[in-house]
Amino acid sequence: MYQIIRAGVIGLSVALRLAQDGFDVTIIARDFPAPFETISAEQINYTSPWAGAHCRFIPATNEQEEREHALALLTFRHMEKLVEAGKHGEAGIRFMKGFEYVESPSQAYLDLTEEKASELGYKSFRRLDETELPANVEWGAEYLTFCLNPMMYCCFLLRNFARLGGKLEKKVVQHPLEVFDAMKSCGVAAVVNCSGFGFDDPDVTPTRGESDLGSRKSRLQSVLALTDHMSLQAK
Ligand SMILES: Cc1cc2nc3c(=O)[nH]c(=O)nc-3n(C[C@H](O)[C@H](O)[C@H](O)COP(=O)(O)OP(=O)(O)OC[C@H]3O[C@@H](n4cnc5c(N)ncnc54)[C@H](O)[C@@H]3O)c2cc1C
Repeated sequence: MYQIIRAGVIGLSVALRLAQDGFDVTIIARDFPAPFETISAEQINYTSPWAGAHCRFIPATNEQEEREHALALLTFRHMEKLVEAGKHGEAGIRFMKGFEYVESPSQAYLDLTEEKASELGYKSFRRLDETELPANVEWGAEYLTFCLNPMMYCCFLLRNFARLGGKLEKKVVQHPLEVFDAMKSCGVAAVVNCSGFGFDDPDVTPTRGESDLGSRKSRLQSVLALTDHMSLQAK
């Protein structure tokens, strides 16, 4: 049995993926997604429902950014597959043209030609010429991207998880090990820590300057952490 701590977009995505692979999974979280019609903004005290939730590619200048770009591409392809499968309505996904305007572009932007962008996985990338740029903007481009409605998307993940027999438990957790203690009798094999703040794990550090309502630390790291040892605390 797996336990996923927290039910933001990261915890839900991981839980669904494990359930799809046939694992017995329980999500433990203080809050679960609810349709926006049923809750007021004051009640939403976790990050995912607030996201603008658009996908923006950032030209990589180091190994960490290359890894983030690879993850962004994986997500892009995943969303494409959902749309191809006709799920865009219930999942709240929409593909659209994205525009980037950069006032003081780094060399990485200046080097981003249409050929290079295509190699990096951008679709329909086109550099904007000077006449298309707003005042004081030195560099601009358009490319295919997507935006999603985070409340719809989180509910979509939760629905699909529940359909596969996934279990939910509403609970405030102080430390991941608590879950092992509480669940000893059920034989928990692993806990996946999907908390962006990491419960004081020193390996969790901010990335990409993602904003967050509660903690100053980034949530994106929790996606990256899933493949790292720190996130999977087997007992
Ligand atoms: C205004 C805004 C705009 C954004 N725009 C974008 C964007 O355009 N593109 C993008 O990629 N990202 C964007 N982000 C960032 C994105 O929203 C976050 O990276 C993402 O939602 C984090 O998801 P998460 O699952 O890690 O955490 P969260 O969504 O915060 O989930 C936290 C979960 O943990 C639970 N929890 C918290 N504490 C405890 C506890 N002690 N015990 C048990 N459960 C607990 C909560 O109840 C909840 O279920 C934006 C963020 C904001 C605020």
